[in-house]
This record gives sequence, structure tokens and C-alpha cells, in this order.
Amino acid sequence: ARRKLSSIKKANAVTLDGAPIELVANIELPQDVEDVKAAGAVGIGLFRSEFLFLGRDTLPSEDEQFEAYRQVVADMKGFPVTIRTMDLGADKNPKWSVHGVSDNPALGLCGIRLCLAEPQLFRSQLRALLRASTHGKLRVLFPMINGLTDLKQALAQLDLARHELRSENIPFDEKLEVGAMIEIPSAALVINSLVKHVNFFSVGTNDLIQYTLAIDRNDDAVSSLYDPTHPAVLYLIQHTIKAANKAGLPVSVCGEMAGDARLTRLLLGMGLRKFSMHPANMLSVKQVVLNTHLDRLHTLTGRILRADDPDKIHDLLQQLNALDC
Ligand code: PEP
Ligand code: MG
Repeated sequence: ARRKLSSIKKANAVTLDGAPIELVANIELPQDVEDVKAAGAVGIGLFRSEFLFLGRDTLPSEDEQFEAYRQVVADMKGFPVTIRTMDLGADKNPKWSVHGVSDNPALGLCGIRLCLAEPQLFRSQLRALLRASTHGKLRVLFPMINGLTDLKQALAQLDLARHELRSENIPFDEKLEVGAMIEIPSAALVINSLVKHVNFFSVGTNDLIQYTLAIDRNDDAVSSLYDPTHPAVLYLIQHTIKAANKAGLPVSVCGEMAGDARLTRLLLGMGLRKFSMHPANMLSVKQVVLNTHLDRLHTLTGRILRADDPDKIHDLLQQLNALDC
């Protein structure tokens, strides 16, 4: 039975067989929190903090950053807020950057690499995040991790920031949770080496698809080839979810796939229980959750994951979405 949209908005996201599904939101700036609340999200799964660093001539100070993070976690009143450290350099280039734009920016000094190349700047953000962590439930997420080496270096910077704050008697949440984005195929493939070092994972499918299929996510000339259900992409997502579940670590998807209601059942069938999306997509995704028995997804999901012909996958996906369950 289909419910009215207004009643869906207030409903908890629970499947027909009673499994709670966490639907959280992606934001770019502190003022987006209003939309998050209006959409009924139970947290923020991705705060793209780099937007605080864009469209301006100078860098935001540590205090200015602190105030932005504090405001968001306080506004969310105890709901978890996952703040991604600045993810610049690929498709987002700040005016103040001293690094030139490379021929292949998406393969260049971007994401965590740029942060590790600018440790002072990175630590100003990490200090601001740690300071804000006493004002609500804040979690830190590192973007563009490609394996254990860059993850360890990022964690070492976080440890340095903790050490600095301790020596200045500035409080922070000692239990702060730290996660890695899985959005580079190598990170998905070596995920078992990362599980001991983080508290959670978030799958960035926008970049994962780009890097797996070698399709520029912003190039219209190849946009028709950008296929979230390509068997290689599904393999990497499935591998990530399984490894996280096995290690007992929470995993979410925060790329556009999480907000695409046509893919909700497939992701549920693959074992995903947390989806982070633009607030505008929350109702349609929740509607699918409310109309789905997890139990009844197994057969078709299994066939999709075993299929090697993309046409067959598309056909099976339609069947999955047409299931009356
Ligand atoms: C992603 O890559 O899927 C993601 C969520 O991050 P962004 O879109 O900001 O690169
Ligand atoms: Mg990304």
C-alpha cells in the first residue's frame, strides 16, 4: 500500500520486515541544515567542508572554521554529523591555492593529497573539527584515500592536532570517530588493510564510478557511459560492504547512487543500511524503503551481482524494482 508523501516524511525509515535504515543528508554549507531538518534526516552523512574554502580570496581561519562546524553539530542537536575534510584540487579549485592546475587534476594533487602537502592548512581544519567535537556528535571523514599509506599519514596529522590541543588545554571529544571514503578503486580492493585504522567507511560512488570506468564525471561527451550498475562498480561496492560488515564497521554510501530511488533496493539487497543523499531525494528513497521486504531481495540481487552482461543487469534491476514487496 502506498502512503501519502506527508506521512512518509514523518515515518521512520523501516523496511516491511522491520529493519531500520539510516537516511542521512549531504550538505555543502551550514545554512543547508534547514533543508536537512525539513527532510526528516537523522543526521548528516557528508558535510562537504571544502565549500567553506571556495569562492573567496583568503583562507578561513581556524576560528572561522570552528564556528561553522560548531554551528552545524549544535543545530543537529545530537544527531551525528560527518564532516569530510576539505576535498579540493580535482573539480574544485580555490583562488588562494599556490598549486597550479595539473593536466589531469582528478589524478593530481587533490583531496587528502593536497591536505598532506599543506600540513599547516590541514591541521587548522583538524584542530577546528576537534574543538567543535565537544558541541555535538561530530565524526571526521577523509576523502580520496587510496590505501593504507595516505590513511596513516592523515591519521598522524589528526594525532598531531590532538596533541597540540592537549598541550593547550583545549577540550575535544576523545572518542571522536574517524572514517575513510572509499572512492578510489584501490581503496576498495585493499579495504581489509584499512579496517583496523578507522571507525567507519563511506562509499563515494561519484568518484568510484569515475575512477573505475575511466569516465570523467563532469564530461558531457562521455556521460552516457557513466554507469553506476557496471558489474565492476557493483563488485567494488559489494566488496566494500562485505568487508565493513565482517569487520563490524558501519558503512554508508554518500555518492549520488544513495539518492537514486531506482538503486535503493539493489543497495539494500547488497547489505547497505545507511544512505547519505541530497535532502531533496530523501522522500523518494524512503518511500522505497517503506515498501520493501529485505527478505525478498536476495534472489534477484544475487543474480544481478553474478551477471556479467550489463544489459542483463539492467533487465534484472527492472525486475527487482517491479517486485511487489
Ligand atoms: C563521491 O565522490 O561520491 C562523493 C560523495 O564526493 P564528491 O561528490 O564530493 O566528490
Ligand atoms: Mg568524491
